[in-house]
Amino acid sequence: MGTTEVIDPSTGEVFTTVPSTGLEETDAAIDRARKAFTGWRRVAPGDRARLLRRFAAVVEDHIEELARLEVRNAGHTIGNARWEAGNVRDVLNYYAGAPERLSGRQIPVAGGVDVTFHEPLGVVGIIVPWNFPMPIAGWGFAPALAAGNTVVLKPAELTPLTAIRLGELALEAGLPEDVFQVLPGKGSVVGQRFVTHPAVRKVCFTGSTEVGKSIMAGCADQVKRVTLELGGKSANIVFADADLPAAAAAAPGAVFDNAGQDCCARSRILVEASVYDRFLALFEPAVRDFRVLDPSDDSSEMGPLISSGQRSSVASYLDGADVAFRGSVPDQSGWWFPPTVLLARNRADRHWREEIFGPVVSVLPFRDEAEAIELANDTEYGLSGSIWTRDVGRALRVSRAVETGALSVNSNSSVRYWTPFGGMKQSGLGRELGPDALLSFTDVKNVFLATGD
Ligand code: NAD
Repeated sequence: MGTTEVIDPSTGEVFTTVPSTGLEETDAAIDRARKAFTGWRRVAPGDRARLLRRFAAVVEDHIEELARLEVRNAGHTIGNARWEAGNVRDVLNYYAGAPERLSGRQIPVAGGVDVTFHEPLGVVGIIVPWNFPMPIAGWGFAPALAAGNTVVLKPAELTPLTAIRLGELALEAGLPEDVFQVLPGKGSVVGQRFVTHPAVRKVCFTGSTEVGKSIMAGCADQVKRVTLELGGKSANIVFADADLPAAAAAAPGAVFDNAGQDCCARSRILVEASVYDRFLALFEPAVRDFRVLDPSDDSSEMGPLISSGQRSSVASYLDGADVAFRGSVPDQSGWWFPPTVLLARNRADRHWREEIFGPVVSVLPFRDEAEAIELANDTEYGLSGSIWTRDVGRALRVSRAVETGALSVNSNSSVRYWTPFGGMKQSGLGRELGPDALLSFTDVKNVFLATGD
């Protein structure tokens, strides 16, 4: 087994190494998961629920440790990282309620009794990106385990530490060996093997649209179930009748949170032309005041980018662009990039069209409601978005018309673990979180019992 160096993005320095799982070890882990499935699916629903609640309680006891690990490994602000660890706890608790409620139906038919069961699939492979290592892992493993599957999980190469720790905490909580295994390693080796190994019955992938497409194509070969959570270029639509100070004050957080490395980032701001200048005048101080500080500082609102490569990629979007105004960065080494506001000249601008995955937002005026909808939908992405207006009818009309999976009105938040999350168009396939995600880790079995009537 080789090793991978882990870098602190706030300093750019290597601070630890982790094993890099090879192909043979991946096969061996999948085989152990396949064997463990036989026992795990038979654990009584109440006992499985109790084990998941205990796992949640152990995570709760380690929130500060997990959060500090994420600050170091991913450069997340400590406030965000605490929320992320808490989200793993919450999602475990939420799906801990599922095993005891995973009811089928009794369907009236002639000649007998018909019942359905939600059967677990077997081994589920979860592939996680580097931008939200903890929550995205939990959104996969919690419902998968609750439904009676065993899980092999591959964290991103850059951010394996919290996932490895969560694997240890699962054992500490009493989950049986091999029910939940974390396999740090390369996407091309471990992740790809989840796609090709016949014992893995479902792949949950979160990451770039490009890799997601190749995973979907690979899964077709075995008719493997797949959930995809991919990229985004979400619109924040500000109408003239909105509470403009509130919309402008909230807009930096909606795109610069996690240094813009957020699939839900509202990276396109559409502003009704009649209030365009006023909005920008309100937006500028909010951007300049956005606190880009060492992520371990309690008041930090934004840390560094994940890597030097990501910083070069983000910087390339400023070439030839109209920079309206920028925030600041601390005077220290690491992969820092200031919050940056670009004025789009038209919808063809590269920074308007492509997912930048950094703290860069593009602003464009629109004439009327119809043009706002048309501009918002002029993209192959469709993950999230916001609408700012005081007109309730318009809020609902535009919400129905914008082609994205998770919309907020007079708010920029997309993720609540009680509600479905996922993308339309090329932003994804399937939904995570909420009441329905559980069923995507099961197949319906129909059983007819002849009664001799
Ligand atoms: P990525 O696609 O490069 O990698 C994601 C994961 O896939 C990593 O664990 C990687 O090792 C693995 N991987 C890479 N190649 C693989 C292959 N051939 N087979 C199997 N696995 C492979 O993405 P990234 O750069 O880590 O993450 C950023 C992207 O993720 C952005 O595009 C972002 O929008 C997206 N994202 C989407 C969501 C969502 O919920 N929709 C959430 C977070 C991130």
